[in-house]
Amino acid sequence: MTGGSRGIGGAISTLLAEDGATVAVLGLPEDRMRAQSLAASLNGAASRLHFYETDVSVFDRCREAVDAVLKEHGRIDFLVNNAGITRDRTVRKMTVEEWEAVLRVNLSGPFFMIKAVLDTMLEQGYGRIVNISSVVGEAGNFGQANYAAAKAGLIGLTKTVALEVAKRGITVNAVAPGFIDTDMTRAMPTAAIETAIEQTPGQRLGKPEEVAKLVRFLLDDNSGYITGAVYNINGGWYM
Ligand code: NAP
Repeated sequence: MTGGSRGIGGAISTLLAEDGATVAVLGLPEDRMRAQSLAASLNGAASRLHFYETDVSVFDRCREAVDAVLKEHGRIDFLVNNAGITRDRTVRKMTVEEWEAVLRVNLSGPFFMIKAVLDTMLEQGYGRIVNISSVVGEAGNFGQANYAAAKAGLIGLTKTVALEVAKRGITVNAVAPGFIDTDMTRAMPTAAIETAIEQTPGQRLGKPEEVAKLVRFLLDDNSGYITGAVYNINGGWYM
């Protein structure tokens, strides 16, 4: 689980740990404290949440973190590629650095993590991979060329890996949330948040816990015939 100490990732880690799963949260060094307090807040499930330092934008760091998880726990049944960043600006103003930073975390990161876990899942003959894409990857969004391109690319990556491993007990799916009430959305100007709510037929922001429940469904043993799919969860913003 990448970036699993706050926002959507925090909700997924919480739900899975409360369900009895051992959850490895792979995050940046500054995430450690947050992951520890998240673990402490989980009644009876604290010992199931473990933090491993990584930066998903660097392949070697992904590899090292996955090796550390395997050394401690022996197997990896699921991977949730959740870590993501935004660097919003119109294309005319967007710098090459802003373009590359977003592509590196939001698209190369999931590729690095999938590469790092895939041999283990193939040996196990079992795996569940869920990539957190975005409605923006399907519909585009003003000022988010880098983010939309990365999230659209993630859908292509999802479908391709799904095809490549379908015979081997591994499913690969994407979840495409609309506007969810997290720090990422709160960083938007208030007027933009209000517009997003107005444009959402459901007339509200989504809750991280709602996304977490959908991810849990896709990670379930019984979801083995669902692969290469993109699940929208956006209050009707994009259909
Ligand atoms: P968030 O609250 O900003 O959390 C993002 C997480 O990613 C944080 O834990 C962050 O770590 C981690 N992260 C960032 N860069 C990283 C890196 N290089 N290596 C490892 N971890 C890194 O965002 P969120 O709203 O929960 O979003 C979670 C995912 O859902 C993202 O992929 C986002 O694009 C997607 N999504 C969100 C929305 C929405 O409306 N919120 C909608 C559609 C899709 P730090 O805490 O250390 O910064």
